[in-house]
Amino acid sequence: MRGVVILGATGSIGRSTLRVIGRHPHLFRAVALTARRDAAGLDALACELEPEFVVLAEEPDPSFRPRWRGEWRVGREALVVAASTPGGDVVVNGLVGVAGLEPTIAALEAGRRLALANKESLVAGGALVMEAVRRGGGELLPVDSEHGAVHQCLAGRPVEQVRRVVLTASGGPFRTLPAERFPEVGPTDALEHPTWDMGAKITVDSATLANKALEVIEAHHLFGLPYDRIEVVVHPESIVHSMVEFRDGSVLAQMGRPTMEVPILYALAYPDRPAEERPPFDPVAASPLTFERPRREDFPLLGIGVDAGREGGVVPAAFNAANEVAVAAFLEGTLAFPDIAEVVSVSLERLERTPLETLADVRRADREARHLASGEVERRAGSRSA
Ligand code: MG
Repeated sequence: MRGVVILGATGSIGRSTLRVIGRHPHLFRAVALTARRDAAGLDALACELEPEFVVLAEEPDPSFRPRWRGEWRVGREALVVAASTPGGDVVVNGLVGVAGLEPTIAALEAGRRLALANKESLVAGGALVMEAVRRGGGELLPVDSEHGAVHQCLAGRPVEQVRRVVLTASGGPFRTLPAERFPEVGPTDALEHPTWDMGAKITVDSATLANKALEVIEAHHLFGLPYDRIEVVVHPESIVHSMVEFRDGSVLAQMGRPTMEVPILYALAYPDRPAEERPPFDPVAASPLTFERPRREDFPLLGIGVDAGREGGVVPAAFNAANEVAVAAFLEGTLAFPDIAEVVSVSLERLERTPLETLADVRRADREARHLASGEVERRAGSRSA
């Protein structure tokens, strides 16, 4: 029986994890659950699952009266406590944004298995995260369909045997939309993902291809691969989750219907593969499987993000932060869709390049990029309303 800590239990990854755990009660038990501010949602989960404690990252509304009588902890620092709590054999990090970095490091330093869905951890602080793995002896398993696929294709083989990794991208809702029409696109259009059901931030990132840039950086750190050996292809059916081409010319791909529950169970149970009752995969029904080159000119965040990864230091952290600000402004309706990339690009141009050695360096770059991006969002909102 593995104790599972779920950071971000009320979010999309958290709820999928709870469904997986619910189907395997003899294998997994929820020991701690956290939420950012959905106090009522967290309360309901706690009543049902009776964890050891729950964490609310933000102070709840004063009128909030929990029904669950167990231990409540409040504040961001409590996320770190949850990530390293003794009963947590596996920590699922389903937090959104760079807020996930500190709990990631805490779990790995405490020697836990970390099932990492919070890709921002690796993007913003990849070197620090991999250093925490070495120091704490923790185990890092990706909860991202593409990286889960690569992990399965590699099956522990050394990276020297790999010629390259091909990450697949669905292409998002605007894959075939002419770029001239991008200015008309609103949040509801961007949230209509054709194949994956995910949270709002990542769904917009899928529409801009920023998500794929984040995933290239994630793959670079996770598998120790140089950037020129990581390629992106668009695969609208989202059946092939990624491929690994080995140096002997053999290509392995991992396939399946798009649901996050498969990579979540893989990360929780690895190296075991517990039985799941799913309808059999029908290759004929899934056909045809098609692949295209990404429209790099029309979706510039893919290139901007990968270049940020190549540059390294605090630049990937700043890319992530500027993108978070721009996406939030787009979701609020204060920024046009094509301006998400513009805001990120301008912010990175102005960023002061500093080395990345500690968490404080990441935080400083994150703050600076947010400041630059917010200023640019305001400037554009001002010139639009003027
Ligand atoms: Mg993914």
